This record gives sequence, C-alpha cells and structure tokens, in this order.
Amino acid sequence: MSSIQHYAAPRSLDEATELLRGGNVTILAGGTDLMPQAKSGKLAFKPTLMNIRRIGELRGIDHGGGVFRVGALTTISEMRNHPEIKAKLGVLWQACDHFASDQIRNAGTLGGNICNASPAGDTHVPLLVLDARVVLASKPNGAVTTRTMPLAEFLLGPGKTRREPSELLVAVEIAAPPKDFVGAFFKFGTRPALDISTISIGIGGVLKGKALHGARVAFGAVAPTAIRSPGAEAALEGKPLDNHVIALAAAAAERDIHPISDVRASEWYRRELVRNMLERMLGDVGHG
Ligand SMILES: Cc1cc2nc3c(=O)[nH]c(=O)nc-3n(C[C@H](O)[C@H](O)[C@H](O)COP(=O)(O)OP(=O)(O)OC[C@H]3O[C@@H](n4cnc5c(N)ncnc54)[C@H](O)[C@@H]3O)c2cc1C
Repeated sequence: MSSIQHYAAPRSLDEATELLRGGNVTILAGGTDLMPQAKSGKLAFKPTLMNIRRIGELRGIDHGGGVFRVGALTTISEMRNHPEIKAKLGVLWQACDHFASDQIRNAGTLGGNICNASPAGDTHVPLLVLDARVVLASKPNGAVTTRTMPLAEFLLGPGKTRREPSELLVAVEIAAPPKDFVGAFFKFGTRPALDISTISIGIGGVLKGKALHGARVAFGAVAPTAIRSPGAEAALEGKPLDNHVIALAAAAAERDIHPISDVRASEWYRRELVRNMLERMLGDVGHG
C-alpha cells in the first residue's frame, strides 16, 4: 500500500542528497522494479517518493584515464549502444544485449539494477568479472561526500545492500581491462525473451596462448547475491584450457555455488546448467 505524502524531483545531486538526509525516502529511477513491487504489495513506499531522473550528474558514460565511469541513471540501452562498452567491456555489453526487451532496456537503469539487489540481476555478474566499484553519495555535514566500494562488498542478499538510507548510488567505476582480456556472458531463462535469469555465468581473463591469466568466473541466481567463484578461478589460473582443467574448474564452481529450488528451476537443474554451460564457455575460449 502506498503511503506517499510528498513527491520530489530534484535537479541536482546536492538537492537529492539533502532530501535523503532526513531518511524515509523511496528512490525512483526507471521504475521497472519499483512499480511492479509496489503494485504487488512487496514494497511499501516511504513518505517521500524521490524521482531522480532529472539529475544530470547521474547520467553519462565517461572513459578517460583508463577508467569507465557509468552514471547510475545510464539505461541498459545506453550501455548496449555504446561502442566503447561493446569494444572494451564485452562481457557487460553481452549482458545488456540479453536483458529483457527494448522497452525495459530503455527504462531500466544500471543504478536500479544494482540497488534492487536481485540475485538474478543481469549486470551484477559482468560487473563482478570486471571488478567494478560502486560510488555512493550523501551529505552528512552540509557538503556532498562520496565513498566507493567493490560491488562484491556492496551486495548483501536479496534486496539488501550496504547503501545507507541517506545515500544515493551515483556511478559505477570499472578499470578498463588490459589488452587481450577476453570475457563472455551466458544467461539461461525458461523463455527465450523477457525472462529473468534462471542462472547466469560470466567469465574473463587475459588470454595468453590457451591459458587464462587473472581468471575470473562469476555466477548469478545460484546464491543470495551474484558471486565470484574463487575455486573455479584458482583451477583455471594460468593453465591451458584443456578438457581436464575445464572439468576441474566446473567441479570447483559447483562447490562454490548454493542454488535453491524455486519456480524457475530446481537446485539440481541449476547445478547441471552451471557445470555444462561453464564447460561450454571455457571450451569456446580455449578453442577460439
Ligand atoms: C518485464 C520485465 C523484465 C525484466 N527483465 C530483466 C532482465 O532480463 N534482467 C534483469 O537484470 N532485470 C530485469 N528486470 C528488472 C528491472 O528491469 C531491472 O532491474 C532494472 O535495471 C531496474 O532499473 P530501474 O531504473 O527501473 O530501477 P527502479 O525500479 O527505479 O529501482 C529499483 C530499486 O533500486 C533503487 N534505486 C534506483 N536507482 C537508485 C540509485 N541511483 N541509488 C539508490 N537506489 C536506487 C530503487 O529505490 C528501487 O529499490 C525486468 C523487469 C521487468 C518488469
């Protein structure tokens, strides 16, 4: 049930963080998670509904100095249409390409996808592969201050993050990966389009010969948050991607994940998907 007493549409970060100081604010970006959750009764609005869509400082994709800074209001479509994201952050681009429909991609934002903190959020897996950091702003003592932290620390569980009620997610920072970095994203849903991930997989690393260095493996929808798989990464690190190494990595990944059975799939099926699809993805990199 809605209990909105005040609607605000600030035009600057300064104004928005001022409003957030009092707490009791629901933040609205694209509304593609928020509105269905409110309608279904899963979410109750706080007294102030703050629409952040007019805040220019939350928009845009910059990539100077070897770091991509993607504003929280950047839509999935804007990332998908960005040539540098496609060229340099291919694993993130693939996730945007597999994300919902045009309508949802045009409205849904990166900040909303992260702060909604669904274990199946499709940007989380590539952002974990890319060691992304989130930038949070607040105004504790009359001036806007920011703090950053790795996305891996920010996500705590379904719908739960380390964001304080007084904070706004302003951007995501991603160091541009080194030359020869390869990345791939895979998502399985029960329908070919418009579906939330049953599982998702992201892999990355610098390919030297047939071996991945700085190997990264991440999964979505197999634990309370998207997770990296330290076991799979250790099994892969610097080793030629042959069948034996790939099987060891897949077995290690199975030990790192904690899938549940729900309406989308059973635990057993999720484990089968993770093993089989990770083996296929690594095989493709090894033979590529
Ligand atoms: C039909 C349909 C299909 C979908 N398919 C997919 C899919 O394939 N993959 C996927 O991952 N998701 C999917 N979603 C979920 C949703 O579209 C995404 O999570 C989207 O990125 C949310 O962004 P938004 O801007 O709409 O967020 P909103 O709904 O506006 O907000 C989501 C949450 O984040 C908070 N929030 C938003 N921005 C900020 C900010 N800057 N700082 C702090 N808090 C903030 C809000 O208060 C709210 O709690 C789908 C949704 C629908 C309805």
